[in-house]
Amino acid sequence: MSGAATSLSPSLRSMAGSFVGPGESLTVDLLVGIRPPPGLSEEGSSFPGAGTEPWISSDEGHECFLCRCCHNGRVKPDKKQRATVKSMSEAQLLDLLLAQLSMRAQEAGRFDTLFPVLQAIHRRLSVSSAGESNISGASLRNLEKVMSKMSCQQMIFFAKKNPNTDPGLLQLVMDRLTGSSANTPMSFPGSSVWLCAGAVATRPLTAGELLAEEEPLLQWSGEDQDQLQQLFDALPLDKQRAMMELQDSFADQDSEKTLLGVACTNAFTFQNEEEERCLYLEISRFNHSCRPNCEGSWDERLGVLQVYACEDIPSGDELCLFYTDVRKPRQLRQEKLQTLGFTCACPVCRGADPASDRRRERLWQLVEEIPSCEDPEEALDLVRESFELSDEEGLNISCFREVTAYQAYTSCLSMGRTEEAGKWAQRAYEFSLKGHGPYHATTKIISRHASRYRS
Ligand SMILES: [Zn+2]
Ligand SMILES: [Zn+2]
Ligand SMILES: [Zn+2]
Repeated sequence: MSGAATSLSPSLRSMAGSFVGPGESLTVDLLVGIRPPPGLSEEGSSFPGAGTEPWISSDEGHECFLCRCCHNGRVKPDKKQRATVKSMSEAQLLDLLLAQLSMRAQEAGRFDTLFPVLQAIHRRLSVSSAGESNISGASLRNLEKVMSKMSCQQMIFFAKKNPNTDPGLLQLVMDRLTGSSANTPMSFPGSSVWLCAGAVATRPLTAGELLAEEEPLLQWSGEDQDQLQQLFDALPLDKQRAMMELQDSFADQDSEKTLLGVACTNAFTFQNEEEERCLYLEISRFNHSCRPNCEGSWDERLGVLQVYACEDIPSGDELCLFYTDVRKPRQLRQEKLQTLGFTCACPVCRGADPASDRRRERLWQLVEEIPSCEDPEEALDLVRESFELSDEEGLNISCFREVTAYQAYTSCLSMGRTEEAGKWAQRAYEFSLKGHGPYHATTKIISRHASRYRS
């Protein structure tokens, strides 16, 4: 397959020039670049909800694949060790975890299997600041001693006691460790060469849960097919093969998949820059829906695209992202999706309900009207209208709501209504938490705004 893939079909060659990649709205974020007002602390706050786990997990059901070979222990950390884990910096904790997990993976001969997990921790470690910490080397060694006796699962639960470390990352590590157990948030069943069945929830998921995190496999300029070809050729063979297993909506039963076809079908735009394309092996397999239950978030510091559940999702439901801004009316959505090689047949498009379409038409107008509205009182009304329409349409995309709530916050501020402003800032913060996670720059910025109004 990879041999045939290197020849580009002529029809795709000609259309590639005008091709606009999917996911244009994945990273739309009007707040990036906003600086905290003077006088506000630059210190990141600790992660909400972190540190609330029990000391020893009550969930004994799922042990990780490492623990089946070694480290079955279940130990109770003493008071000193508990105090240390609560006060250490994220960098210190991740450093310890990385050392422990690497050692166990090595011992179990499963280093390759665990490599993506280790890489994820390492990536986070490389951007987390050492921070202020007055923990002595002796305390750290004491902590390491007890952690080395814990099962991996207990170790992760224990690590969650640390308020400075992103619990989403720790959960991701745990899910990867337990492999096919019930903790894994999703699977890709029934994917074949011609049919991409997409991602399916393997357990009930909660709004705001981090489901996937992935670096781009390829990143290229949409204009430059030669660059795409060169980057593809430079990939290891197994990656080339995995990429060519992704769907090609432009090929039919009689024609071979092409590299450009696969790329056009699966690429996301990079950071909302129209010409920059990214391809992901796992995240590209999420299907599109005009009423999606998941959303993507680009994390600039980590260099990864993350996928978050944007609503509570029952086990067994398909997980869908969106490849075009779903606030658009049907006609505009379909025009865009057809450039990706498919006609959307999601329930919203199949239903073709004129009332639904009118609501989206209005929502799409509001995307422009709210930020350009000069009367703050009127802007607030438009924000409320936008929330009502989104509710009626069942659109729960947190990032969209975060941006809209933030606009209400600035409107209230400009009218001097600080109490109301505080409520909107808090809402924007909660949406950002769900759509980007606690670690994202946007969430940290909004958090500082919201914290000014908390009593
Ligand atoms: Zn283990
Ligand atoms: Zn649709
Ligand atoms: Zn956002």
